[in-house]
Amino acid sequence: MRSDSQRSSVLGLRFFVCPRCETVYALPEEERCQRCGDVHLDEITRTMWDDSSFFSPDGNDD
Ligand SMILES: [Zn+2]
Repeated sequence: MRSDSQRSSVLGLRFFVCPRCETVYALPEEERCQRCGDVHLDEITRTMWDDSSFFSPDGNDD
């Protein structure tokens, strides 16, 4: 039973991206972008675990 909380903390890793400046955060302390100040971050946790979109998120690299 004790291991449940520890396990969930590992699997509970969440990723967010700022739709405005595309900065990616892992477990942001504040739900706002620390770069541009946007108050809304989109959760991309599922996307981060998807191999197909892991390498080329937008097909537009620099
Ligand atoms: Zn931002």
